[in-house]
Amino acid sequence: MLSTPSKFIRPLVRELHPYVYGEQPKIKGLIKLNTNENPYPPSPKVLAAVKAAVDGRLRLYPNPTAQGLREKLAKLHGCRPDNIIVGNGSDELLALATRAFVEPRPNSKTAKGTVQYFTPSYSLYPVLADIHGAAKNEVPLQPDFSLPGLAELKRGKQWDFDAALTFVTTPNAPSGHGYLTKELEKLCRAQKGVVVLDEAYVDFAEEDALKLALKLPQVLVARTFSKAYSLCFQRVGYFIGHRDLIAALHKIRDSYNVNGLGQVAAVATLGDLPYYRARFKKIIATRAWLGRELTKTGFRVLPSQSNFILARPPRFAASEWQPKLRAGKILVRWFNLPGVKDYLRITVGTAAEAAALVRAVRGILQ
Ligand SMILES: *Cc1c(COP(=O)(O)O)cnc(C)c1O
Repeated sequence: MLSTPSKFIRPLVRELHPYVYGEQPKIKGLIKLNTNENPYPPSPKVLAAVKAAVDGRLRLYPNPTAQGLREKLAKLHGCRPDNIIVGNGSDELLALATRAFVEPRPNSKTAKGTVQYFTPSYSLYPVLADIHGAAKNEVPLQPDFSLPGLAELKRGKQWDFDAALTFVTTPNAPSGHGYLTKELEKLCRAQKGVVVLDEAYVDFAEEDALKLALKLPQVLVARTFSKAYSLCFQRVGYFIGHRDLIAALHKIRDSYNVNGLGQVAAVATLGDLPYYRARFKKIIATRAWLGRELTKTGFRVLPSQSNFILARPPRFAASEWQPKLRAGKILVRWFNLPGVKDYLRITVGTAAEAAALVRAVRGILQ
């Protein structure tokens, strides 16, 4: 017998496995390389704009459609404001896409079900499908985390070209593998449902696929201010795509889904892009240094186009390395998932943080 409160909860919710967060520790002096946050603070102009906005106006509702921000984003990306929806982080928009485009229980020939994604990729996608009660289709990437080609997907018979919604993390997380726009385009053109290209880490990559969202009606590109623009705390992300898909998402979002200080911070960020671009260069340079140094100590480091690296450690299992590094006050991420459980995912921090990691690694190996 279920206890009384439990019986009020839908079976789907009772049995749900929620998303597993990276640890957000309060321990002083810990070097945090586990959740791919930017090691550099937001620009001084952004901090000043947020501080200046904290006054009696906090009593007012924010702009319901993030109008000012969408206008600035439209200029930046060469599209119109009605090609853009802003969310409370891109996570909110990934959830809205699941609700807007996927039938949980398809009951006709035209209604499409199924949320589809490659494994490994962003571990939120299966949770979103489960919350919605939708079918999932997981298809493995190649062993080196590259995308299978169309011919291979057809041959494998596992890939669903009719899936209502396909999520592609590009560059991939947790591997950091970058994808060429021309391979993404082939995949998108072959899909009969919506494709979300999740570009959370694209500022650290060689190519972006934004033009596909403005060219193909079934493609949405997801971007976020969290990682590259040092605004995880503020929760601002956006989708770009065909105005009809964007309008459908606007219909089902909360009325005031993006908080006012987040809108202020994001607008100020767009006014100071050179500050951020200079830091992307530093992070990319540190990524190369860290990869070389870890390779010297016996790690197998995969090529990365993001602000983290996936690396297979020597001597001990990755699951043992994680607590050993933590004891040395360095936090990295280990995923107990097929294909990546022999690896550590390490966020590229500042040059000093990367040097501290390499010192800790050498200490553990001695
Ligand atoms: C961090 C992350 C997101 C979510 O970003 P928010 O805008 O902070 O919600 C989306 N996709 C991927 C792949 C991420 O790593």
